[in-house]
Amino acid sequence: MSLPAYVDIYGAIVFPNNICIDGHHNGCLYRVVTHIHADHTIHIDRSITASRYIIASPITLEMLLALGYNIPKSKSFKLNYDEVIDFYDGSKLRFVKAEHIPGTTQVLYEDKDIVVAYTSDFKSPGRGTEIIADVDVLVIDATYGDPRFSRADEDVIWSEFVKLVRKLMSMGPIALYAYYGKAQDVMVRLRMEGIDAPFILSPAHWKLYRVLSRFGYEINDVFLSGSAEASEIERTGWYIEVHHTSRFNSLKRVYGLKHIFLTGRYIKTIMSRDSGNTWIVGISGHADFNELIYYVDNARPRLLVVDGYRSEYAHRFSSYVRENMGIESIVTPMTVSLSF
Ligand SMILES: [Zn+2]
Repeated sequence: MSLPAYVDIYGAIVFPNNICIDGHHNGCLYRVVTHIHADHTIHIDRSITASRYIIASPITLEMLLALGYNIPKSKSFKLNYDEVIDFYDGSKLRFVKAEHIPGTTQVLYEDKDIVVAYTSDFKSPGRGTEIIADVDVLVIDATYGDPRFSRADEDVIWSEFVKLVRKLMSMGPIALYAYYGKAQDVMVRLRMEGIDAPFILSPAHWKLYRVLSRFGYEINDVFLSGSAEASEIERTGWYIEVHHTSRFNSLKRVYGLKHIFLTGRYIKTIMSRDSGNTWIVGISGHADFNELIYYVDNARPRLLVVDGYRSEYAHRFSSYVRENMGIESIVTPMTVSLSF
């Protein structure tokens, strides 16, 4: 493929100069990991073996190590936002802040011929996420790339969520289920909202918490599940357990707990299920349709490449941009459903 930046069939974002992002690509010497979510750490073991460097923000790199990825020190390259890697041929690689989970970054590459960028997962463009404008090719995540996905104001969702937590806490302990990184943001926000029950974390969430607390994401009263302190707290019946989302199906029937599943998927309202013991709350880490449009409209790339590997609505979003915004747009990896 002759595009200077695209998404390959295994989910790697392929940039010039043997750079691959969030997936491994044959011949990739510089593997960038934009954040620790599973669909962005694809084939990282292959990159650890075959590539020269694994490049990530300091938070992401430390969290990868905490999750058990064995990245040798000699291959680890920590890059802060707005720091630049200067390659021998004059090309440059830079990280640009994205709001999604701690450590998430956008990626900007330029050489004498071309400027390309990748947004990774993001929300709040123009505020928490810097808009990368005027590039030749912009690769974008379009998880909610369909006009139906216009969310209620996040503050409204939060206030409903906090109300729910308060109500359930008055009845007994709660178990929260959240993805890595998301759990941290939720705990910070609950403290800000005045929820002061102790958090008891699963071992993996605990490891990530320990990393993030070193980077300033400190939270009061956080304990490791199974520790003596946690067992003591459990006897009081006043606490919030925090688990990874993958544990939801096996734990949701545990008696004596109210279960709240935090999904990044699009849902309109807080829903109650399973005879009142289980709730699903949609607090998304992704831009909704209007925010995606806002990013693209302000960025105005020469070519927009929509990630068709991670976004179910990539084709719809790409057509919308082409037809309504006067910006050339394609989806990669290409599939038979592409109509031109
Ligand atoms: Zn993500």
